[in-house]
Order: sequence, then structure tokens, then C-alpha cells
Amino acid sequence: MNKENEALLKTRYPLLYRKELLFGFECGDGWLQLLLQLSEEIDQKFLASGQALENYPVATQVKSKFAMLALYGDNLTESMQEAIDKACEISRSTCELCGAQGQVLVYKRRYTVYCDKHAPVGSQTPHDYKVSMSSKKRVYQLNYAEIAHF
Ligand SMILES: [Zn+2]
Repeated sequence: MNKENEALLKTRYPLLYRKELLFGFECGDGWLQLLLQLSEEIDQKFLASGQALENYPVATQVKSKFAMLALYGDNLTESMQEAIDKACEISRSTCELCGAQGQVLVYKRRYTVYCDKHAPVGSQTPHDYKVSMSSKKRVYQLNYAEIAHF
């Protein structure tokens, strides 16, 4: 995520992002709106809980993991976790580059959500990727079989 967007998140939700994230926000800028929305929801849930400020949740890691938004932290309640799970579900169909409707694709062995516009040439759906990997494996096995034959 670019510096401007990281700064925006930190400025708007200084408590949630009070701890320096070791690797920053490890996801594309297309998920900014999703993260803003999630942060807002976490904030609202905290305010509704009436807890002391010292119990305010803190994010420890924000990343894209297998084409899904992941937010780890401390002091997260069950309902905050539910909000994270929901955002995670939405992220699976949100282009990580621009935020438009997208789908999970595999490119250079990496799982990312791309819209039609941003899908790199040569990217594959996870299904096609698995099929191509298993057919490669079959070719190896055939080669071994041939070697064994000789
Ligand atoms: Zn896109």
C-alpha cells in the first residue's frame, strides 16, 4: 500500500494503528476502502462496548494472505473478529489494485484478486492453475516411468 494511503489509515484511526506495523500494510491500494470501512466498524464496536480506552484494539499485522485481507491484532472482541471475517470475504472479490469487482487469480504462483482490467497476461484461475500444476507433475511422473523402463 502506498505511503499516502497508509498515512490516511493511521491518521483516521490512530488508536487502532498505534503500533508500527513491521512490514507496513502488506496489501494493494485497491483495498483501502475496505480497510477504512473495517477500521470504522472496529471503532464503532469499541465505542458501543463502553470499555476503557486502554482496551482499545491494536492491529499488529495487516496483509494479503492467499488473496484475502487479513488483520491480526490484540484486544479484538468476537464481534470485531466477525467484522474482520466479513471484510476478508469481501476482499476475495475486490481488485487489490483498484478496488473494482474482481476474482482470485494466480500469477507467478501468487494468489491475488484482479479485475478484468488488471489481470496480468498469463494469470490463471486457481482451478486452472491446479490443473496445470498436476499435469506438470504427471509429465514428471511419465518421465520417471520412461527412465525406469530403460
Ligand atoms: Zn483493478
